[in-house]
Amino acid sequence: MQKWKLTTEFTFDSAHYIKDYDGPCGRLHGHTYKVRVEATSNQLHTSEYCPHPVMVADFRSLRWAKRDMEKGGLDHGVLNDILPPKYETTAEMIAQFIYDETKKRVPEGVRLKVMVSETPNSWVEYEDEP
Ligand SMILES: [Zn+2]
Repeated sequence: MQKWKLTTEFTFDSAHYIKDYDGPCGRLHGHTYKVRVEATSNQLHTSEYCPHPVMVADFRSLRWAKRDMEKGGLDHGVLNDILPPKYETTAEMIAQFIYDETKKRVPEGVRLKVMVSETPNSWVEYEDEP
């Protein structure tokens, strides 16, 4: 079966603290978060900006989190204030939040994987397995 995979990477700068964490991560500090979003599909779709079925998903819909927090993204904000309370601000749950929000912005049938890195040597990966 035919299959396409889009991969896009971006960064955003934000502050956070881990609630009730006994150590430095419990104090307000910042990271340049790196995010990689993979979108996989067996068919191509139209988008909000293009009426022809020629793309897996519009890159704009995969990169929303890069935008300034005042424009609906995650950049230059305090993640503890931006994320709904059900998400803690660990890399694991930031990845889950980005996944959940990106899922709402891509066509039905597009499978996603979201990777988040706080530091150069570690990544977390989130996907919702069928
Ligand atoms: Zn941190």
